[in-house]
Amino acid sequence: MPVPDPALVVLVGASGSGKSTWASSRYRAAEVVSSDALREVVGSGEHDLDASADAFALLESVVSARVGRRLTTVVDTLGTDPARRRRWLTAARDAGLPAVAVVLDTPARVCRSRNAARDRPVPARVLTSQLAAVATTTDLLDAEGWDAVLVLTPDDVPAAGPRNTP
Ligand code: ATP
Ligand code: MG
Repeated sequence: MPVPDPALVVLVGASGSGKSTWASSRYRAAEVVSSDALREVVGSGEHDLDASADAFALLESVVSARVGRRLTTVVDTLGTDPARRRRWLTAARDAGLPAVAVVLDTPARVCRSRNAARDRPVPARVLTSQLAAVATTTDLLDAEGWDAVLVLTPDDVPAAGPRNTP
């Protein structure tokens, strides 16, 4: 299914599932609002968890401003917080913008092996809890009222290509 454009696109996926890769293969950098990128803006780097509250405050502000102008907005976070998803979906509804959830349904072993190959791997127990949260979220999405829920496997994500976001 093609994703409408403009649209609000909310990514859902564990670390290493390929969210940022998929986003940068399809969207301009300015269209992607990434919590990791904003941690780098207001903190010491994309992994600076102490900067999370400030990064998410900025993220909410950017999403609200872009969606209010009916600009395509791709929200690149884990996507597993139901209250945040509801807020973004409501903002899109209020603006008359189609809202799509995109789940990166990447097998746990693939996320783990990609994670292990990274410079700053997420601790194994953190990844385990992310994978569980993504599974729970996938079960909730259909009832949340998205215009479409897209579930992608690794074959749907180009492996190479320009990278605009972390
Ligand atoms: P995080 O939540 O940590 O930001 P992410 O979901 O954004 O993770 P990416 O950064 O997009 O994940 O991808 C993780 C790693 O997997 C990267 O090194 C990327 O190049 C690689 N990767 C992503 N998609 C594919 C694919 N389809 N085939 C091969 N490698 C991929
Ligand atoms: Mg990412």
